[in-house]
Amino acid sequence: MEKLIMIKYGELTTKKGNRENFISCLINNIHNKLNGIDYKIIKDRSRMYIKSSNIDEIVDKLKNIFGVHGIVIAYKINTNNIEDIKKSSLEILSYKNFKTFKVKTNRALKDYPLDSMEISRVVGGYILANLKDISVDVHNPDEVLNIDLRSEGCFIYTNEIEGSGGYPVGIQGKGLLMLSGGIDSPVAGYLSLKRGISIECLYFESPPHTSLEAKNKVLELVKILCKYTNKIKIHIVPFTKIQEEIYKNNASNYMITIMRRMMYRISEEVAKKNDIKVIINGESIGQVASQTLESMSVINNVTNMPVIRPVACLDKLEIIDISKKIGTYETSILPYEDCCTIFLPKHPIIKPVLEKCIDIENRFDYKSLIEDAINNIETITISEKDKNEFLELL
Ligand code: ATP
Ligand code: MG
Repeated sequence: MEKLIMIKYGELTTKKGNRENFISCLINNIHNKLNGIDYKIIKDRSRMYIKSSNIDEIVDKLKNIFGVHGIVIAYKINTNNIEDIKKSSLEILSYKNFKTFKVKTNRALKDYPLDSMEISRVVGGYILANLKDISVDVHNPDEVLNIDLRSEGCFIYTNEIEGSGGYPVGIQGKGLLMLSGGIDSPVAGYLSLKRGISIECLYFESPPHTSLEAKNKVLELVKILCKYTNKIKIHIVPFTKIQEEIYKNNASNYMITIMRRMMYRISEEVAKKNDIKVIINGESIGQVASQTLESMSVINNVTNMPVIRPVACLDKLEIIDISKKIGTYETSILPYEDCCTIFLPKHPIIKPVLEKCIDIENRFDYKSLIEDAINNIETITISEKDKNEFLELL
C-alpha cells in the first residue's frame, strides 16, 4: 500500500470553462507553500494527489490553502482485486479505535464484476468477521471506510480533513487592502483572499502621532495573513502632513470624514500605479461615525474604483470570531494607536454633507500633499518565513 494525499477541489469543479485556470493556479499556490519540502504532485482529471514522505507537514500547510476543500490521507493499492481490497481495508481499520463503521464505495470502473453496494457488503462482512467488538451503523458510524475504485488502482481512506474552501488566491486578480492595526481590516483581507483575490496592503502612518510599534503591529498582521497566501507587499504612506493640515484648517467634526476621503484618494492612486482594480477595507456598517451609510457615501464620493467591504454586514462579534480563528486577533488588540484615533473629534459627524467636505478641502492644497505622500511611500514585501522580527520589536 502506498500512502498519499488526495486533494478535493469542491467548488472549482462547478466552474467548467475556467477549470484548467483554477487548477493550475491552485497547483502554483501549493508549490509556493510547499517550497523546501520533498514531494510530487500528480494531477488527474478530477483530482490531485501528493506523494511525499512528509505527509503530516504537507497536510498542515494544505489546510490554509484556499481552493482546497477536502484533504484525504489515502492508501493506494495498484490492483482492483477484491481480495486485496478486503485485506488492505482490514489493515487500515485495524489501526483505528472505533465501535461502529460503514463502508462506502465509489466505482469509477463501471465494468467491474461487483457493483458499489456489493463491494461495500463484501468488504464490510470481512471486517466484521476479523475485528472484535464492532458493528455496522449506516446512519452515524464512528468510522467511514471509503473505497474508490479507479482505472489507476484502488484508493482506500477513512476520514476527510476539511480544507479552507474558497478559490485559489490570485484567480480573481488583485485588490488593495487598506490595512490598519485594528480587528476588522485583517479579517477583510482574509475574506478577500478566500474569494481568490490576491492582495497588496496600504497603511497610513502618522509619525510622531503614531508610534513605530503601531507600524510593526501592522507588519506583523501582514505576516500572519501570509499564512493564507504567498508573499504580500505593503505600501506605507506618510500621512502626517495631510492629517495635520486637515486639523489646522478647522475640519473639527469633519476631521475623520476628510481624512478618510484623503485615504481613499491615495488608495485609488496607489492601486492604479500597481495595476490593481479594486480597493478593499474593513468598514462595517454602523460601527463608527464614519461608517454610517451617509458617511460612507460622502467618503466614497472621491473614487470611482470599486470598494469591497467584506465585513460590511457582519456583527463585531462575528468579525472577532473570524479574527481569532485566523490568528490575527491577539496582534490586533495590542494597544498601539493607529492614525484614526489620534485626531478624533469629540463628536465626529455622522451625517456629513458633501459640499461642506469640498469647502474644507478647498482651504488647502491637498493635491500636492497627496502627490508628496505617494512619492514617499515605503514598500516592503513580507513572507510567512520572515523572522518574527516585528512582534519581537513590540
Ligand atoms: P479596523 O478595526 O480595521 O482598524 P475600525 O473599526 O477601527 O477598523 P476605521 O478606523 O474607521 O475602523 O477604519 C475603517 C477602515 O479603514 C479600516 O478597516 C481600514 O480598512 C481602513 N483604515 C483605517 N485606518 C487606516 C490606516 N491607518 N491605514 C490603512 N487603512 C486604514
Ligand atoms: Mg482602525
